[in-house]
Amino acid sequence: MYILGVKIDNLDIKESLQKISSFLINGRQHYIVLPYAAFLVQAQKDEEFRKILNQADLSLPDGIGPVLASRIIGQEMVKGRITGIDLIWALFDKFGAAHSVFLFGAKEGVAQEAAEKIAVKYPTAKIVGTLNGYVNDTEAITVINNSDAEILLVALGMPKQEKWIYNNLKKLPAIKLAIGVGGSFDFISGRVRRAPKIVQKMGLEWLWRLFRQPNQWRKTWRSVIVFSRLVLKEKF
Ligand code: UDP
Repeated sequence: MYILGVKIDNLDIKESLQKISSFLINGRQHYIVLPYAAFLVQAQKDEEFRKILNQADLSLPDGIGPVLASRIIGQEMVKGRITGIDLIWALFDKFGAAHSVFLFGAKEGVAQEAAEKIAVKYPTAKIVGTLNGYVNDTEAITVINNSDAEILLVALGMPKQEKWIYNNLKKLPAIKLAIGVGGSFDFISGRVRRAPKIVQKMGLEWLWRLFRQPNQWRKTWRSVIVFSRLVLKEKF
């Protein structure tokens, strides 16, 4: 289905993992995007970004925004949100022992800390490298290629990470699957705390972020207001 011109695949986590399983064996390269409200707002004015989102092999709603919008606009209802963090854990649970993974992005040391947290939970996980997200493209490509990873998690924030994947995937021939995972490494490493489960269930994680990361409030608030306006305009 399309919400505000952006493709959203209506799959639950189990169905998504089945798709991913086929991506890892069919010999082609794939990428996954995880849009939430701010993505859809950005995609209205950034045509390149919209095109990249719509060409993704899988587009899963990482936020209450697209889920509610699908209900309000009254098309098919999205089954529910799949966050980048949940998808990462599910990936390691199902494929981590068989397929090698590289963690690229976030501030110096954060991807490494996230890798250590993952290794505690999944000791057989094949994490073959980490790199912070503040290096130049040539360096990143060389390091990732030398690691021989098959799965690449890219945490550069949107829309940078999706553009990075789109423009560089071909230069990373061993990568079968790349996923834009936003701030996930900050959370997995424990540097930033996630909202309590009850707040997540209520769909109010954005409100939690608003209070916890005040430097982000302008971005969050803007996307909530603009997104709501766009959805209501589409409905009426
Ligand atoms: N980041 C990065 N390189 C950059 C810009 C950002 O590695 O050039 C990282 C940043 O350190 C953070 C993540 O990208 O870990 C962005 O997180 P945010 O939650 O803002 O992502 P969004 O949810 O906006 O996609």
